[in-house]
Amino acid sequence: AKNPLKVLVTGAAGQIGYALVPMIARGAMLGPDQPVIIHMLDISPAAEALNGVKMELVDASFPLLKGVVATTDVVEACNGVNIAVMVGGFPRKEGMERKDVMSKNVSIYKAQASALEKHAAPDCKVLVVANPANTNALILKEFAPSIPDKNITCLTRLDHNRALGQISEKLNVHVGDVKNVIIWGNHSSTQYPDANHATVNTVNGDKLVPDLVGDDKWLKTEFIATVQQRGAAIIKARKLSSALSAASSACDHIRDWVLGTPKGNWVSMGVYSDGSYGIPAGLIYSFPVTCDKGEWSIVQGLKIDEFSREKMDATAKELMEEKSLAYSCLN
Ligand code: NDP
Repeated sequence: AKNPLKVLVTGAAGQIGYALVPMIARGAMLGPDQPVIIHMLDISPAAEALNGVKMELVDASFPLLKGVVATTDVVEACNGVNIAVMVGGFPRKEGMERKDVMSKNVSIYKAQASALEKHAAPDCKVLVVANPANTNALILKEFAPSIPDKNITCLTRLDHNRALGQISEKLNVHVGDVKNVIIWGNHSSTQYPDANHATVNTVNGDKLVPDLVGDDKWLKTEFIATVQQRGAAIIKARKLSSALSAASSACDHIRDWVLGTPKGNWVSMGVYSDGSYGIPAGLIYSFPVTCDKGEWSIVQGLKIDEFSREKMDATAKELMEEKSLAYSCLN
């Protein structure tokens, strides 16, 4: 039998945390033969609720779950973890300026960077979910210099999956037959969902999505807007955020990163830019990536048209502005 892997979930008493921990305990994140020990961190006001979640995990008798740590102590939470899913963050409340939210979150991520650097397993893989996800991940990376750049990522897989879902509904095909959409850039309303290279597996082989849709306008307008605004649409419908799909796609992100992407498939991940596609190096930017043996690589050589170029640059520009705002909050 495999040794258990330790998975940290911060903000574990929150909505996404509550949806995520049972998925991890069922093997949705690391596979059906990988035992796990779940470390849950939250802040003191949430300690009692966190303990309730721990009680439920015990009650569910998950065969793969070899232990649960529920704590408000960041050192205990980070100790020896192999995977860290950072969901905890300060929510934007009514009347708060962007800068106020940013300031709260960058100081949280700066502190957690130090704890992870000192106490996590040396090869720990980090996924930031809490918003502003790309910039929180960047701050975490910069204040944990001994964690390799390649180990710090942010979640855009939910946006990626939403794009697959929209195409599957438009073309009336199964979502499992659609692949290779791309989310470029920031996990924000400037993200660019790109279906130019996406394909559908049909009885006559793989067909390009733009050819099947045959309506360039839909892909350039409604498709992009629906994916960008899906989170708001769910809040409107449910009066609560999209915690289920956020948790599910966090599992997809880690699973594909650790276990590899299927041959011929890529996925979207927010990763540290190396300057690919002319995106400034030193940003956490969502790219198409393939994963093999626990390492992601950016898919190279895709043809970028003028429409895409503009959208990719606009979301990069927003990330540069967020980065300088984040640094101005730290100073
Ligand atoms: P959620 O669990 O709903 O969301 C957590 C974070 O994920 C938020 O930053 C949220 O951003 C972000 N997020 C990213 N993608 C999505 C998505 N698709 N749908 C919804 N959220 C998304 O928030 P809760 O308030 O329920 O829980 C947060 C937990 O964090 C609480 O338990 C709280 O105690 C804890 N916390 C921890 C702190 C710390 O570690 N120091 C500080 C403050 C809180 P957005 O706000 O934009 O929706």
